[in-house]
Amino acid sequence: MSEYISCDWIEGGMDFDVGVFGSNIMMCCYVSCPGGGNIMLKRGFDGSPIDWDEFWRLKKHYKDIQKSGETIKECTDCVFLRKDKWRDKNYIDSIIFDHFTKCNCDCVYCYTHEDKKKYNSVQGYNVLPVIKDMVERGIFIPGGQIGFGGGEPTMLEEFEDLIHYLLDNGFDNISIPTSAVKYSPVIEKGVSQGKIHVKNSIDSGCRETFAMIKGLDAFDTVVKNMKRYASVKIDDCDVISKYIICPGYNDRKSEIDKWLDTCKKIGIEYAEVSVENIWLRNHRHEGNEEVIELVKYILDKGGSMFNICKGENHVMQLLAGVKE
Ligand code: SF4
Ligand code: SF4
Repeated sequence: MSEYISCDWIEGGMDFDVGVFGSNIMMCCYVSCPGGGNIMLKRGFDGSPIDWDEFWRLKKHYKDIQKSGETIKECTDCVFLRKDKWRDKNYIDSIIFDHFTKCNCDCVYCYTHEDKKKYNSVQGYNVLPVIKDMVERGIFIPGGQIGFGGGEPTMLEEFEDLIHYLLDNGFDNISIPTSAVKYSPVIEKGVSQGKIHVKNSIDSGCRETFAMIKGLDAFDTVVKNMKRYASVKIDDCDVISKYIICPGYNDRKSEIDKWLDTCKKIGIEYAEVSVENIWLRNHRHEGNEEVIELVKYILDKGGSMFNICKGENHVMQLLAGVKE
């Protein structure tokens, strides 16, 4: 082990990124890093066997910068950098599957909303053969974090097989954001084992608002599926319901009350609040009092109803800047 400043992704991370702008392997998915993030490990990846010598050479190049006491330019001021003791070996223990492809929702705030057809027609590759190869070679080891980003994971053809394989091979920290329009047996299995954390952003408390924001009439289905997941959870933080405040769509206390009541009724004990990103960026410094009030309302009321009720980091930062 050697002690220096680095992060889990520089040391043992990979981001399989598939989208309309191409398919690459990145170091991480943290694009909000002040330094820019987006460190490329393999451009134009199509699922073919990876040249591991070349891959580790590149990883070593970045690790050596951190070991020398310098900081990788793209990682400047990243919140994930920390001083720690890091393993002196090549390994991957954290992976993000960023498939900016299919989704069965059409949220008004999603970047895919501008051209849903285009995003839904992106052809990816099956990542499971790559993962199996990595596990068999001892390259991919349990201990880190596994997550998904982009589209709807349950719509990937290989989703059930991929998650079964990970669960069967000791990976026990898997985060799955899902629209919950489609029920997934393997999510239920992972939640019941305490190995999967599932998060659904329902953003509404009734069918009409759901349909207006998500572009389909599936509120009851989503509630039913989340209830199934919540019924098998062994830890409160494993099933999360989130409410993204979208001004003009769901910024009403009556809607929020219905959402909180629904969560309670179906056994969810973790409620999370966020604010729609683009709106927040445009109103960071002014005109946001009503939205801040709603965030506080959720944190207060939700805090008294659930074991966990939190705001997403950027929302809490906004609140921290507000004088009482
Ligand atoms: S320091 Fe930040 S930007 Fe750099 S690899 Fe780690 S998470 Fe990504
Ligand atoms: S569920 Fe997620 S990926 Fe799908 S449209 Fe909504 S925000 Fe986009």
